Amino acid sequence: MAEIRSLEELQTPDSTALIFTPFGLGGPMPAERSAEFLQGMVADCGLASDVAEGTRREFDRLQRLFVYGLLDYDVFTVVDDRALLVMEQALRERFLQWYAGAVTFEDANGLEPPKTEAVGTYDDVLAAVKKLGRRNRRRSRQQPSPQWQLKVGTTLIAFNGMLAGLRTWARAAGLLRGQRTRGIEHAMSNLRNAVAHPTGYHRTTPVETARTLHDLAELVNQLWGHPTPGGRLYPAPVERDIVVMAWNDEGSVHMAQADALRDDTDADGYLYLLIRSGSRPGSRYEDAHWAAFDSRFETTQFPADYLWGPGSRSDALAWLDAKQPKGDTVNYVDRVFMLREHDGQLYPPMHPEVAAGLAKEERHGAWYTVRADFPEHAFAHVRGLNGSPDAHARVGDCRNCPAHQLGSGSHEQALRAAEDAIGVIVPRRPPAVGIPDSLFWPHRF
Ligand SMILES: [Zn+2]
Repeated sequence: MAEIRSLEELQTPDSTALIFTPFGLGGPMPAERSAEFLQGMVADCGLASDVAEGTRREFDRLQRLFVYGLLDYDVFTVVDDRALLVMEQALRERFLQWYAGAVTFEDANGLEPPKTEAVGTYDDVLAAVKKLGRRNRRRSRQQPSPQWQLKVGTTLIAFNGMLAGLRTWARAAGLLRGQRTRGIEHAMSNLRNAVAHPTGYHRTTPVETARTLHDLAELVNQLWGHPTPGGRLYPAPVERDIVVMAWNDEGSVHMAQADALRDDTDADGYLYLLIRSGSRPGSRYEDAHWAAFDSRFETTQFPADYLWGPGSRSDALAWLDAKQPKGDTVNYVDRVFMLREHDGQLYPPMHPEVAAGLAKEERHGAWYTVRADFPEHAFAHVRGLNGSPDAHARVGDCRNCPAHQLGSGSHEQALRAAEDAIGVIVPRRPPAVGIPDSLFWPHRF
């Protein structure tokens, strides 16, 4: 029999919880401060007001319960496990809203006419799936059987009502986005399955649980059409500002807000370039390749646009004052890149508009059109195609990396694949300007 504890004992902080401090493991921290610290860890995530009520209430409950891990450390594990189940609930609720009362299944083998079923609850959806499954089994072996698929807009997907089917649906409906996050969604649903069918005892730290709640909030908000500013999974578009880059012959490269041009620094031997960039100094977007800017190649990881240069500091300032260019916001996940492979050399990804503006002699070779969040990912995927034959997908979602291959072949074929994905492409031909000497992207044409 379990021991009966007094109220005072129940209110006593769990010493394990007190070792988590804002500075990592240490402590023990005074319980008062720990209570504040723990609440702060999950205070900044919340759901949009148009999220379905059931999901919102579940989330609020988890956020509220989190701090009680202070009194019983196992609460963190229970909240973490529950959060993974709420992910499925959110997908179910969004599914019902999206279909607004009726789902349609089509026979991919074309033997039977489409079937539309009225659905008021998710149990109705599961019943409809089951009914179609039974109809398949009733047929004799000699007859070809229909292959029922769920209609999502203009596409058909395999759908059994389970979590994997819901994820496929949300992607097909365009509600979830991002190539890198596609892999994370997969990992999250594996974790959810482990929670639903536990095989052993496990314990989660408050740090892990807080992250799970943040991830859950991002996923739910994205399902209802709200990306997260600065998000890890479904980031909102990044704000770009006017940035000056300056470099000299000695390989020194600097980046600053364009207004830094007004400081008379008297640095000799520098060339100046103005770009529109999201990874400006002080922004939260760290770009490992910020110094590799090239007007014709997507060498920086966040999208950067060429504006002016290179030239002297005074000319840059004069142009800045005359034109007064403004910042903007751009989406950076699920971008489309075109890559050229020629004479055994794979070149850095290009924006399809720039690839469309190439001269005839620059179009020779094999071309690949790839959807990825970052140019680095598109490059690694295409390079991987030359490795072991089945390691990377030649069409569609790559199982091996955060890329989705849209097409390949001649320049014209690759461009058509890009146009199928993003619509009309207006060619542009920026002047060939780049910061010289990039270790990561040494080859350009
Ligand atoms: Zn790949």
